[in-house]
Amino acid sequence: MSVMHDETASNERSLNFLEEIIEADIAAGNKRIQTRFPPEPNGYLHIGHAKSICLNFGLAKKYGGLCNLRFDDTNPVKEDVEYVDSIKDDVRWLGFQWAGEHYASDYFDQLYEWAVQLIRKGLAYVDDQTQEEIRLNRGTVTVPGKNSPCRDRTVEENLDLFTRMKNGEFADGEKVLRAKIDMAHPNMLLRDPIMYRILHAEHHRTGNKWCIYPMYDYAHGESDSIEKVTHSICTLEFDVHRPLYDWFIEKLEIFPSHQYEFARLNLTYTVMSKRKLLQLVQEGLVMGWDDPRMPTIVGLRRRGYTPESIHAFADKVGVAKRDNVIDLGLLEFCIREDLNKRAERRMAVLNPLKVVITNYPEDKQEFVQCVNNPEDETAGKRDVPFSREIYIERDDFMEEPPKKYFRLSPGKEVRLRYAYLIKCEEVIKNDAGEIVELRCTYDPMSKGGQSSDGRKVKGVIHWVSAKDAVPAEIRLFDRLFSSETPDDVEEGKTFKDNLNPESLTIVNGYIEPALNGVKTGEKFQFERLGYFCADKDSTAEKMVFNRTVTLKDSWAKIASK
Ligand code: ATP
Ligand code: MG
Repeated sequence: MSVMHDETASNERSLNFLEEIIEADIAAGNKRIQTRFPPEPNGYLHIGHAKSICLNFGLAKKYGGLCNLRFDDTNPVKEDVEYVDSIKDDVRWLGFQWAGEHYASDYFDQLYEWAVQLIRKGLAYVDDQTQEEIRLNRGTVTVPGKNSPCRDRTVEENLDLFTRMKNGEFADGEKVLRAKIDMAHPNMLLRDPIMYRILHAEHHRTGNKWCIYPMYDYAHGESDSIEKVTHSICTLEFDVHRPLYDWFIEKLEIFPSHQYEFARLNLTYTVMSKRKLLQLVQEGLVMGWDDPRMPTIVGLRRRGYTPESIHAFADKVGVAKRDNVIDLGLLEFCIREDLNKRAERRMAVLNPLKVVITNYPEDKQEFVQCVNNPEDETAGKRDVPFSREIYIERDDFMEEPPKKYFRLSPGKEVRLRYAYLIKCEEVIKNDAGEIVELRCTYDPMSKGGQSSDGRKVKGVIHWVSAKDAVPAEIRLFDRLFSSETPDDVEEGKTFKDNLNPESLTIVNGYIEPALNGVKTGEKFQFERLGYFCADKDSTAEKMVFNRTVTLKDSWAKIASK
């Protein structure tokens, strides 16, 4: 699989292939459009699911149709209400409202009845072979399978055995119900696929009512059909399942839902499987499902992503028919674009260096006016306290600067954003030779940052007033994996070996007072540093901020190469 760094930068786009199909259907008189988003409640949703949600709900909306939320809860062992709730939350947060909330488990009676119908038609049978025997007798792509010795059971015998399976007379794995199709079919999935297995397990919705559970292939298309879904959209790996999807619908003579496949979303530096994400959570390798480094929707949300940025991303990615990997930079580009327009600016210093302005009166306190958002006039201005002692960013000073270094250095002048011009007069060091403080002078005539005599000062740095600033914990994130495609591993290694040990850096910095006490989830641009979002770990004593993304747009650079 190749990593795509470019392709979809433009905002104008032509119809994707699903829109083309739908428009052709509408033109042919099939005006009712219905889709569904069918998650299995066995984990938290990730950005790949977000793509599918935007697609399914988006198509329904665009064509005046409906989209259902259907929980594909046919496997009692791995599923849980915690996941059901989080999935509903995620869909709502993305801005969508489902027409109907359904559960495949609500259809268990209907599915059972239909299975009985197939048995009556001679199209399904109970098989006593073990799992292993079934596997061996399926043959291979080049070798046809062998018929089960149970394949020719009479309808009566099958009906009796199936009823007894349902009644709990057999142990797990003792029997299965199979569709009677063709053991030599070139598509292996049609070699008498299993429809029901015995699982004596409690289901999170149906409790202990059932001890037989339908397989995905049998339940999925039938559920679509029950809901009268017109366009059942799934990912590419299901294209080989489509003939089976159609077979059941045809033999049962029920509403003809149709399945369409598109390429699943893959992102660089991420894994995108609930099973693997669950592993990271269970093994404590991340803070939880909502760790801001996770590609989960809850993770992205906590990181500071907005629903709008995810919609924009889903749109830019488009709908492909072939698998590819999208550059994580595209996702970052989308949040940067959104927050640039909407996030108010504030000042914070991550790695503080104290500056004393020696000619500034000791007891003076004044305010400078700062623009809240240059992209949005309605955001207004705010007053930020300024005083004799301030913190600046350690990297904004160099004792021996190279050429073209426009920030602060001995004897040089720099502009404090929205405040004054200051000049570095003296560097104070401790016994170990480390710089602990700078002594500067300021030009009292330069309030607002302009010199009064027209001299040019190129560098601009941000700052906070030392006595007014509030200490805060700031979490800086890097990619969770150090490999572009963490799933590609050598023998004996796993995707976890590709975790980036430096994906989280915690710093203790200072924020301007206006940032103290902001609500969890509020988003800001910290001038010159990036976009940040207040974290739920904030307390009355200490604010915690997550860096959503830096200001630098690495994607635009890659894309224009
Ligand atoms: P995972 O492998 O991560 O568990 P899944 O496909 O098993 O994913 P489901 O809950 O079955 O997860 O998926 C619900 C819907 O989301 C399905 O229609 C599925 O095709 C779609 N989906 C899942 N992953 C992606 C992805 N990476 N890109 C696009 N759609 C996806
Ligand atoms: Mg699945």
